Amino acid sequence: MEKASDYLDGDLPDSLANRIRFHLGLCDDCDGWLSGLWSTINLLRGLPRVETPRSLLQRIRSLPDG
Ligand SMILES: [Zn+2]
Repeated sequence: MEKASDYLDGDLPDSLANRIRFHLGLCDDCDGWLSGLWSTINLLRGLPRVETPRSLLQRIRSLPDG
């Protein structure tokens, strides 16, 4: 299975993408959640990438730093 962080390209500001990558590296829960989310979306749309879900951005912003 691809790492969820492989999907983080393009639309995100670098600072936020880096923060997400850092967190995903530490947190299997979010990594699995995001992988599953993107897999589902890609199956439905047949596209390699989709717009970053707002729910993900909200979740990341709610995380404690570090
Ligand atoms: Zn997490």
